[in-house]
Amino acid sequence: MISFDVQLLRDGFTLDVSAELDDGITAVFGPSGAGKSSLLNCIAGSVHPTGGSIQIDGHKVYSATEKIWVAPENRRIGTVYQDGALFPHLDVRRNIEFGWRLLPENERRLDPLEVAEFLGLAHLLERKPNDLSGGERQRVAIARALATSPNLLLLDEPLASLDGARRGSILNYLKRVHAEFKMPMVYVSHSISEVVSIASKAMLIRDGKVEGYDRPSALLLGAATAGGDVDSFQNIVDGVIGESTDHLTTVQIGESFSVNISTRHQNKTPGERVVVSIGANQIILAAGEPQNLSARNIIKGVVTEIWSKQGKVFTEVDIGHKYIVELTENALKDLGISVGNDVFLVFKSSSVDVFDA
Ligand code: ADP
Ligand code: MG
Repeated sequence: MISFDVQLLRDGFTLDVSAELDDGITAVFGPSGAGKSSLLNCIAGSVHPTGGSIQIDGHKVYSATEKIWVAPENRRIGTVYQDGALFPHLDVRRNIEFGWRLLPENERRLDPLEVAEFLGLAHLLERKPNDLSGGERQRVAIARALATSPNLLLLDEPLASLDGARRGSILNYLKRVHAEFKMPMVYVSHSISEVVSIASKAMLIRDGKVEGYDRPSALLLGAATAGGDVDSFQNIVDGVIGESTDHLTTVQIGESFSVNISTRHQNKTPGERVVVSIGANQIILAAGEPQNLSARNIIKGVVTEIWSKQGKVFTEVDIGHKYIVELTENALKDLGISVGNDVFLVFKSSSVDVFDA
């Protein structure tokens, strides 16, 4: 668990934030210049706060009043930045082993090669960073951070330089890293889709202050006013490839992969893991089971939450896992649905994007 109460005064900017974070994945979300990176750097120790205190797993790493300052390299924190910041002259293996080599032997809890394998990098160990794709580079950066056996992983917009297809896949890796290594993470992003997909809690920061700290979906509407990108909200979930016909491929999605959806034909083999993305504004909500529709996907669920603000409404629908659907105030009124009602999600197979996992 991390708790902090951090003040940082700079020319024309004041960061003043305090919170307690649990051992899950916490997202720090907010517009550019809000102070997200500054907060992360204070926790990592690369920036010295002006005042306050920071405690990680019961150990104070900083306290202004008690004059405590633990050097960054002694904080047991792994960091991953937007550009990966790999050493260009070292191959993948050397990059991953870099921090691990600096550790005293009794503190080496994770084997770099196992970490590399876990992140799907085993076949790239001899390559130099310049011969990797952007997504591969970020996986190396994650592996390098993990290999130092940190107690906490800080990620500062790790997907910002990647295209959409690569993002879902890395998000997936990060979720698996969290589950496998029980690694607490703080994940900075200005994409609400990423935040909802990966985090169990999200902190909204604006102008150096905490404006909200809640379940990620509850921050969706706040995000609109905070300058986040809500119009293109994407539901990102894990999937497994099923059967294909000439035109369509079935993908099983959800926690236990129990929901079958229809997608455009995918050149993939049954059983292959994928990441599925569906825009919140690509899904139609129906109060009763629709008949005679051309749309391939009609999935029953229960409304678990509804938020509305400024003519925009988001509903959260549970179909075994949570989906977010965007509609208008009028559509909501016409449907006459409320929390607890059964509804049907309707979307075309062509509205579903499928990425490699
Ligand atoms: P975010 O990561 O949310 O985009 P930052 O933490 O990078 O925000 O920046 C917050 C504020 O601090 C901005 O006003 C920025 O100009 C300022 N800032 C960032 N880095 C430095 C620095 N090294 N020195 C002085 N001011 C900085
Ligand atoms: Mg930043």
